[in-house]
Amino acid sequence: MKAKDKYLINKFTCRFKDKRLEQEYFDRTMDADKKYTQPLIILISLAFLLFIIPELLLLSSTSGLGEIFLIRFMTLVILIGLYIIIRQGSDNKKIAYLISIIELVLMFIYFSTMHTFASLDFLTSVLNLIVLISVIFIIPNMFINKIVVSAIVYMGFFIFPNQILSNVDSGLYAIAMTNTFLIVLMIAIVHHRVNYFDRIKFVNEKELIILSETDPLTKIYNRARFDSEMIKWIKIKDRYDNPIAIILMDFDYFKEVNDQHGHLKGDKVLVETARLVETLIRETDVFARWGGEEFILLLPETDRSNAIKLAERIRETICTFDYGLGTTITCSFGVTEIYDNDNLYSVFDRVDELLYTAKDKGRNIVISEKFT
Ligand code: GH3
Ligand code: MG
Ligand code: MG
Repeated sequence: MKAKDKYLINKFTCRFKDKRLEQEYFDRTMDADKKYTQPLIILISLAFLLFIIPELLLLSSTSGLGEIFLIRFMTLVILIGLYIIIRQGSDNKKIAYLISIIELVLMFIYFSTMHTFASLDFLTSVLNLIVLISVIFIIPNMFINKIVVSAIVYMGFFIFPNQILSNVDSGLYAIAMTNTFLIVLMIAIVHHRVNYFDRIKFVNEKELIILSETDPLTKIYNRARFDSEMIKWIKIKDRYDNPIAIILMDFDYFKEVNDQHGHLKGDKVLVETARLVETLIRETDVFARWGGEEFILLLPETDRSNAIKLAERIRETICTFDYGLGTTITCSFGVTEIYDNDNLYSVFDRVDELLYTAKDKGRNIVISEKFT
């Protein structure tokens, strides 16, 4: 997949074509939306419960009373269930489908009992339908689920016969059906555009973060990202006390490489070396460009002796690699471990010092504390 294709959005379903990106976006929006949905469900439940008061007052006969209580009670149980699912659930996809099913069940209960509600004429029930479909659009879910549920609800209302609709004039019926369709269509279009532009914003933010943390030449992390990784790992070390090692490397006589072969060839050496180092490290290792021709590595779960072995392997790989310059390229290395009470600066000071010692000792060498 090309870099740009990763960000493609399906125009119809409004989903990213890249599955991992879609999952990331979906989880982020669902987690954010859940925060406002929970109080919203409580409010809806309370309002739903309180509506029983006007019903009790307006109801002409007592025969519908039991039915109304049952509807209110069942709906309340379902809403509480929905609240618990949203609060406790961690699999957002499952939550989304459950929400859609619950919405359909609630609508079904509502439609099949519409006739029990006092003073509900045709136009009021159409208005209710529009409100209900609008609610479907603000409850967190996938865009496509909202469309499917709204379409089912719309068809359920207009196509399945019920008492309220049976005596309606066919002209009025057609107008209500068409206008409701247009309103739902407009809600869907607005929702689609908001969703689409929110995704573009998400992608832009993501790209901006990547740019701000990546070295443009070698495409590995830059110093800013490495610093924040260091701060994070020092905290982890304080808590769990697992070994973490640091390797700082600097090219030997790199000025000469530039002078003899030009800056562009020098750049190519940096890029090729970054790719070489990547083949030797673990996915969990943090690899960054520290400065001009200096690279740095943070190795979680690695003690100093293992870090020295890795630095030796990197050193050997570089000095035996054919960069196509007709000369050998070498690097010097400082290796240390993060100790108790270390901070960002004490670690950098120590490893920098070790690198200087490596340069002093003649270059193309790995130096750690035990040699000093
Ligand atoms: P030493 O063995 O003491 O490290 O000698 P050195 O020449 O490598 O000295 P130093 O580490 O100070 O190297 C800095 C040189 O690295 C200066 C600059 O020409 C080169 N350099 C720094 N950044 C880049 C870069 O992005 N591209 C290229 N081509 N060269 C760079
Ligand atoms: Mg150098
Ligand atoms: Mg240097």
